[in-house]
Amino acid sequence: MANLEIKNAEKYYGSFHALKDINIAIEDGEFVVLVGPSGCGKSTLLRMIAGLEEISDGDLYIGGRVVSDLPAKARDIAMVFQNYALYPHMTVEKNMGFSLKLRKMSKADIDVRIRHAADILGLTALLGRYPRQLSGGQRQRVAMGRAIVRNPAVFLFDEPLSNLDAKLRVQMRGEIKQLHQRLKTTTVYVTHDQIEAMTMADRIVVLRDGVVEQVGTPLELYDNPANQFVAGFMGSPAMNFIPGTFTNEGFRTGDGILLPSTRHAENTTTYGVRPEHLKIDPTGVPFNVSIVEPMGSETQVMGKVGSNDVTALFRERVRIAPGETITISPIAANVHLFNASGVRHA
Ligand code: ATP
Repeated sequence: MANLEIKNAEKYYGSFHALKDINIAIEDGEFVVLVGPSGCGKSTLLRMIAGLEEISDGDLYIGGRVVSDLPAKARDIAMVFQNYALYPHMTVEKNMGFSLKLRKMSKADIDVRIRHAADILGLTALLGRYPRQLSGGQRQRVAMGRAIVRNPAVFLFDEPLSNLDAKLRVQMRGEIKQLHQRLKTTTVYVTHDQIEAMTMADRIVVLRDGVVEQVGTPLELYDNPANQFVAGFMGSPAMNFIPGTFTNEGFRTGDGILLPSTRHAENTTTYGVRPEHLKIDPTGVPFNVSIVEPMGSETQVMGKVGSNDVTALFRERVRIAPGETITISPIAANVHLFNASGVRHA
């Protein structure tokens, strides 16, 4: 086990600046998720930690030791990839023990490690099978088993669940989290899925265009996003953004609708409200409904407030039909205000 620190890290691919002044300190035993849209640099950063990609500038420390110039195999890390890359001609047992065999560990010691990992992952009965005889979830577990047997200081996961169907993804998400609670190994996990990030992470690092936008616990990012990008990226359905300005009476949208806010921030240009913070309210503003999506436990309703597209999420059962106009109000205390640069007024 070890802490991990990335200091002033830069990455260039030729003249393309892929990662810019990255500074992240990960505590021993922490589960940190790197999240961001496609191309933001999260896989590159993970591969730099792994030693599969050179760091153009800056330093990487694992357990207080500079490892930036060490080859991947000397870094005491184990990585689980999206395509699990199991050896098709080897059994589960052989797949799991292979890296230890390469390191010339004794057969007895390898056996102990395999039994232990198989026990943790519920793979004991499958040790004699070949990858083609396994389900997607079982293969994913074998890939994790291969990482666990190495007993590394740090686990790295690169979108490990993206090949699985939705239900299995949720199940494996839970399994990886339980595994972490049990092993407490420092983990860095890459995903583009903000729900995966929210549900699994101790802390989340949000990246955009090679820059760290914000680092925080899932609820810190959700409740106090630093800027409009993080506010829009974290949360599903996404936060509504409505352009406008503050007047003497309060926030007025570009098309003249007055919206409630407990604060008055002069240079606000965008009003943000999460779909779940919109309530049906007879004294509210008109909401022209165009789509109603009942999901059982909640109902998602899309439509327009003035000329602005708005999504609302109602937890209670509602009887609304497309084409109807209802009246809604944002919960004033839960509103977010952003300036022209997208920075949120704290
Ligand atoms: P995705 O979710 O699509 O995998 P990502 O956030 O993991 O995206 P990276 O794969 O880290 O993104 O890529 C970051 C940026 O660096 C992208 O613009 C990509 O095109 C670029 N890039 C990645 N690898 C190389 C390379 N070997 N040569 C040149 N550019 C690269």
